[in-house]
Amino acid sequence: MAPNKPHIVCLPAPLQGHISPMMKLAKLLHSRGFYITMILTEFDVARLATSLAAESPIQQGLNDFGFETIPDGLPPHNKRGVLDLPELANSIQGDETNKALKSVLMRLNASSHIPSISAIISDITMFFALGVGKELGIPMLGLCTTSACGMLGYLQYDELIKRGLFPLKDESCLTNGFLDTPIDWVPGLIKGTTMKHLPTFVRTMNIDDTMFNFLLATVRNSSTTEGLIFNTFYELEGEVLEEIKTKIPNLYAIGPLSLLCKQVIEQELLPLRSNFWKEDTNCIEWLDKRSPKSVIYVNYGSLAILTSDQLEEFAWGLANSKQPFLWVIRPGLVEEEFGAILNNKYREEIKGRGLISGWCPQEKVLQHPSIAVFLTHCGWNSTLESMSDGVPLICWPFFAEQQTNCLYACHEWRVGVEMEEGTVRRERVEEVVREMMEGEKGKELRRKAMEWKFKAEAATRPGGSSHSNFDKLVNYLM
Ligand code: UDP
Repeated sequence: MAPNKPHIVCLPAPLQGHISPMMKLAKLLHSRGFYITMILTEFDVARLATSLAAESPIQQGLNDFGFETIPDGLPPHNKRGVLDLPELANSIQGDETNKALKSVLMRLNASSHIPSISAIISDITMFFALGVGKELGIPMLGLCTTSACGMLGYLQYDELIKRGLFPLKDESCLTNGFLDTPIDWVPGLIKGTTMKHLPTFVRTMNIDDTMFNFLLATVRNSSTTEGLIFNTFYELEGEVLEEIKTKIPNLYAIGPLSLLCKQVIEQELLPLRSNFWKEDTNCIEWLDKRSPKSVIYVNYGSLAILTSDQLEEFAWGLANSKQPFLWVIRPGLVEEEFGAILNNKYREEIKGRGLISGWCPQEKVLQHPSIAVFLTHCGWNSTLESMSDGVPLICWPFFAEQQTNCLYACHEWRVGVEMEEGTVRRERVEEVVREMMEGEKGKELRRKAMEWKFKAEAATRPGGSSHSNFDKLVNYLM
């Protein structure tokens, strides 16, 4: 007999920064009595299993929480890294994935042990699911894992074409100041927003550019869903959300999800983890030995790739600052050979002061009392996790809407200081680190970050904006 529960199918995009928030949303809904099926790609399941030391999330036999897999259309040897994103964007919409999704949904609906599907919550970038859902008569909501300001940036892609700002005329537009063209026609985007703050897929001369068109299709399709769920909160991005509402009326801002989980999930029944790499937890013991608010935490997320030159400049900038630091260098962060940069001389220089670590439990790290500052690539999860813990930012945006997040963090929320994107200079790294650790600016940003932490906590407590929006979402899905 199928349990008498509404059944939600969750379909995250096959990327670390998209699976984590979807997993949190799934756990939240499960704790409110929903039956959940999480659909992951075969490649990601293998990756998650490796990080859990061969214990596949699929074999955990969780109550009323099932897993299914679909292919992503790419060959196994493809790394699915940042350079392969255009290929993934194409293949994920292809026939193979479409057919597999349809077949999984039909099988679930035909099973006598599983309740029939009430709705799909799909990552907005997995918009091909909309067609499948429509064909099977299953309503779909979208999960937007970017900031609302990032999403509002993507929502300008159509307008950029109309205004002749996209595609770029020629290569010189990247360096001649064209990217400083103001974007001043969008209510909700703050004063000072320019082309260079919009999600970076606009920086091309090719009108057929895969990523630009993929994101354009993503936002166009978003407005045909039943509604959008955001990992943000009204106090932080109210104006931006109101502007998005003019295009997509049914919005649920329920973030920060990590804080909402603490409020809503009374007992952690689901030991679900969603790391692509095995966690290196030595850093927590190391942090335990440091003084309060003394450590700079450096991490560029799951996709960014550094050149060995950039790595070297970061390395010496951090070393020369003479401040304690925890630096995460995940596998694949640098594609070139870089062993010689972090050589014995370097390690001797930072001995007792700097720890180089593998993939870490970031949320625990940010909550640790010894962390003072986060040098980040401004991925949305990282930005929000940091603000939720009252940790100010040094922003080094890499790509996509990270540039928009950086703009808002530095000029609207006032929790960050910007380190120019692209080229890295050790003198600048040292300067910014010292400014944040020793200067007035650091103190001011830390105060502001603490204010946001309290606001985020209030938003996720019963009666708070995100908590109430989550209740509305639950009612809607019921
Ligand atoms: N993360 C982690 N350990 C690390 C690095 C990152 O657990 O060493 C998590 C981090 O907490 C965040 C996610 O991975 O939830 C990265 O997402 P984000 O949006 O910040 O960046 P992306 O990886 O998508 O560029």
